[in-house]
Amino acid sequence: MDIDVVNPADGTVLATVPLTSAAQVASLTAEAERVFRSRVWSGLAPRERAAAMLRLADLMERDAEVLARLDSEDAGKPITEAREGDIPGAIESIRWFAEAADKLAGTAPATAPGVLAYTVREPFGVVAAILPWNYPLAMAAWKIGPALVAGNCLILKPADATPRSVLHVASLALEAGIPPAVLTVATGDGPTTGAALAADPRIGALSFTGSTATGRAILEASARSNLKRASLEMGGKAPHVVMPDALGLGDALIDGITEAAFLTAGQNCTAGSRILVHESIHDEVVERLAAAASALVLGDPADPATQVGPVINVAAADRILAAIDGAVSRGAVAVAGGGEVAVVEGGRYVAPTVLANVDPADPILTTEIFGPVTTVQRFSTREEAIALANAVEYGLQATVWTARLDDALALAGGIEAGTVSVGAYSEGDMTVPFGGWKASGFGGAEKSLAAFHQWTREKAVWIELPAD
Ligand code: NAD
Repeated sequence: MDIDVVNPADGTVLATVPLTSAAQVASLTAEAERVFRSRVWSGLAPRERAAAMLRLADLMERDAEVLARLDSEDAGKPITEAREGDIPGAIESIRWFAEAADKLAGTAPATAPGVLAYTVREPFGVVAAILPWNYPLAMAAWKIGPALVAGNCLILKPADATPRSVLHVASLALEAGIPPAVLTVATGDGPTTGAALAADPRIGALSFTGSTATGRAILEASARSNLKRASLEMGGKAPHVVMPDALGLGDALIDGITEAAFLTAGQNCTAGSRILVHESIHDEVVERLAAAASALVLGDPADPATQVGPVINVAAADRILAAIDGAVSRGAVAVAGGGEVAVVEGGRYVAPTVLANVDPADPILTTEIFGPVTTVQRFSTREEAIALANAVEYGLQATVWTARLDDALALAGGIEAGTVSVGAYSEGDMTVPFGGWKASGFGGAEKSLAAFHQWTREKAVWIELPAD
């Protein structure tokens, strides 16, 4: 069976890729295990693996424009966003992890006389990654980098909708001299290919990025199979807390919130989907945010001027529009957007939408909408802002808008999220870990040296030889 890769911009079929069956997953795993045991990759000095990974990064740079086009077409992502954000980020990620290869070290605990104890982190062998469609290559690179640098053989399942950039990178890996079956791409869907990977007893670790519902299924599959280490990066409902002095931050405030809410048409795990504004500046922020959202250029993702593209597919558009309509029917006011826009025939385009006056009990305030929709709520005290920020099951990222250190520290300390940024919408650079709290994350983080914990297991060696 095959899967059609459909261009969200116009509904045309871009390519057809195989749906990898459970039996095929088993043979890919067996081949990866054979290659791991052959030590053709795992037995290299870390510096040699680093050199191959740096060659891969160079080839990705050579083909950056191709990769940007593939992600833009598959995901409906504005080409400028792919060119300036996703692809350079993916290349940087491969380089960063490659450069870390020979900087990792174990420990030698101060134990007892006559004993040498040391710890090392070793690769699992065959590992897997299951990817979302919203940042196809960027998410892949966060996993390919540390998984391969650590010496594993990785089987990567891209999202059904967005396999082509990852397939291209797998061919570049061969060109870079990385042995066959060190990086394998298994195209396919969740119920067949993804589920087979999650249940495979020979896969030692699985790193997943996607929705919380799928993350739970993967954790159950791990428990039922071989208790493979499952690291899960999942959904979000990121708050932006706008403190009374925030207008003093100038354009950074509205520009930052607008970018957070509508980057990748809001189909982003850290999308700023809940804007919590102090009552003293609520009306002005709503007005300025509405103007900024309305000014965004909605259009064909292939056009470099486009800032907001289509949503991923017909079902997503229907779901997003139903969420907007539901909130409006319960009293919310769409101060920007609020509906669908005809841009290109065959694609589904939702106007960047800002909802004010939302009922505090409205489900739109707690559900991940995953579309170009944000809500504005008001608060009167810092404590109330923290309580609102934490009133969801998610805890991935939060942004605090203030120049006051006391507020920044209190909110950074009080908000339950894996990342809190202050004064800018950010997930941090490669040097800092990225991982969710609560229903947003489980297991290890991505980025930084912390990422290697997803892909290595610790061994303690205790040597106690008889004295002469
Ligand atoms: P999804 O959960 O529908 O799919 C993610 C991947 O899981 C796909 O490759 C899919 O084929 C696979 N899958 C589906 N069912 C499976 C199963 N039963 N077993 C194994 N694999 C299965 O998510 P999506 O729609 O592709 O991505 C959107 C979600 O991803 C959002 O919730 C978003 O917040 C989240 N996300 C999180 C991060 C993060 O870093 N926390 C980053 C990007 C996206």
